[in-house]
Amino acid sequence: MDGQVTSPAVPAATALPAEIGTLVVGGGIVGSCVAGFLADEGCDVLLLDEGRGGGTTSNAGSLHVQMQSRFMQLYPEHVPNMERQLPLYPKAVAFWQELGRSLNEDFDLKMTGGLMVAESREQLDFLALKAERERRLGLDVTILDRRALDAIAPYFGPAIVGAELCANEGKLNPLLCNAAIRRWLQARGVVLGEAVTVECLARAGTGFDVTTSHGLVRAGRVVLAAAAGTRRLTEAIAGSVAVPAVAEPLHMNITEATAPLIGHLVQHADRMITLKQLGTGQIVIGGGWPARPATADGPPEVELPSLIANATLAQHIVPRLGDLRIIRTWAGNNTSVDGMGVLGEMPSVPGLFVAIPGDAGYTLGPLSARPT
Ligand SMILES: Cc1cc2nc3c(=O)[nH]c(=O)nc-3n(C[C@H](O)[C@H](O)[C@H](O)COP(=O)(O)OP(=O)(O)OC[C@H]3O[C@@H](n4cnc5c(N)ncnc54)[C@H](O)[C@@H]3O)c2cc1C
Repeated sequence: MDGQVTSPAVPAATALPAEIGTLVVGGGIVGSCVAGFLADEGCDVLLLDEGRGGGTTSNAGSLHVQMQSRFMQLYPEHVPNMERQLPLYPKAVAFWQELGRSLNEDFDLKMTGGLMVAESREQLDFLALKAERERRLGLDVTILDRRALDAIAPYFGPAIVGAELCANEGKLNPLLCNAAIRRWLQARGVVLGEAVTVECLARAGTGFDVTTSHGLVRAGRVVLAAAAGTRRLTEAIAGSVAVPAVAEPLHMNITEATAPLIGHLVQHADRMITLKQLGTGQIVIGGGWPARPATADGPPEVELPSLIANATLAQHIVPRLGDLRIIRTWAGNNTSVDGMGVLGEMPSVPGLFVAIPGDAGYTLGPLSARPT
C-alpha cells in the first residue's frame, strides 16, 4: 500500500518506557515531525501509533496551495476559514523544501506548479474569481485559455477549455519522505512504539498518566497528533472543549510507470480528481472519491465504484492514461475540523497539545509541527 513506511515495524510486544518527557500520540506526518523537532531540541520523546509509523495510508504527496474546489463545494461554510489559512500553504511548501535540505534527503520534491482545469465557461469564470481572491492573499496564480494551457501542458483531452495555474504548487513522493523522516527519528533516539493504542489520559501532577494497550506511561506533556483519533482522547480529558475532528475515508489509485507525461499537479474546477506523476514514472490518481469507513476491526477499505469512477474521470481528462494499468488502489482517512488546523496547547489542560493540520494536511504537516 502506498503512503506507508516500509521499514520494519517495532514489534507490538516492545516494552514502553514507564516515564517520558514528551509523549506524541500519532505517527503520521505531523506526529513524526513533532517528535523529530522536539528530539532535535534535546527532548526525550516517545512516539506511539496504533498502526504503523507513517500515519494513515492517505499520504498522497500533492503539495496543495490553491483552494481546492472539492472542499469549497463540500464545505461552503468553511471557505472563510480556508481563506484565513491560505497564506500558510506557500510557506508550508517552502518548509518542505527546507526540511529536505536540512535532513539532506531527496523526497522527489518537484515545484512543477499546479493546474486546476475547467470544462466550461462557467467553470473558468469560477476559477477566475477564485484566482482573484487568492492573488490578494499572496498566491502566484494565472488563468490560462486552452491555447496557453497547451503550450505548457499538451496532454489534456478535448473537453478541457482552460485552467488556473498556481506556481506555488508541487509534488513529492510520500514513501521516500516517510522513510527519510523515520531515519531522522531513529538517529535522534525517538522511541517508536507501533501497534500501540493510546486509550486515555488522566492528569497526574503537572503531567499525565497515559493508559495504552501496552501498559501505563507517565508523561510530562502529551502532544495529540492523532488526526480524527484526537476527538476521543480530548473528549475524555477536556470534555466540552474536545476537538471535533472527523474522519473522511477516501480512495487512491496508482498506475504502472510510464515515460514523462504529466508535469504538473492536476485538479479540476468542479470534479473530484488529482493527478500527478512521480519520479518513478507512476501516476497517482486521487481527488476525494469515498472509501468504506474504518470499523473496529480494520482500516477504511476500497469501494469498487470509486475506483471505476476515479479512473474513468482521469482518462477523460488525460486520455493517454487509458493505456496504463492501475497496479494498486488503497483507502485512507482524511481528517477535517472546520477548514483550519487546530494547533497548540489546550488552555483548559496545560501540558496537553493538539496538532491537526487542516485541509491538505500532508502539505501542511511539517510546518504545523514546527516549534514556533
Ligand atoms: C486518500 C487521501 C489522499 C490524500 N492526499 C493528500 C495529498 O496529496 N496532499 C496533502 O497535502 N494531503 C493529502 N491528504 C490529507 C493528508 O493525508 C492528511 O491530512 C495527513 O496525512 C494528516 O496527517 P496527520 O499526521 O495529522 O494524521 P495521520 O496521518 O492520519 O496520522 C494520525 C495517526 O494517529 C494514529 N492514532 C489515532 N488515534 C490513535 C490512538 N488512540 N492511539 C495511537 N495512535 C492513534 C493513527 O493510527 C494515525 O497513524 C490525503 C488524504 C487522503 C485520505
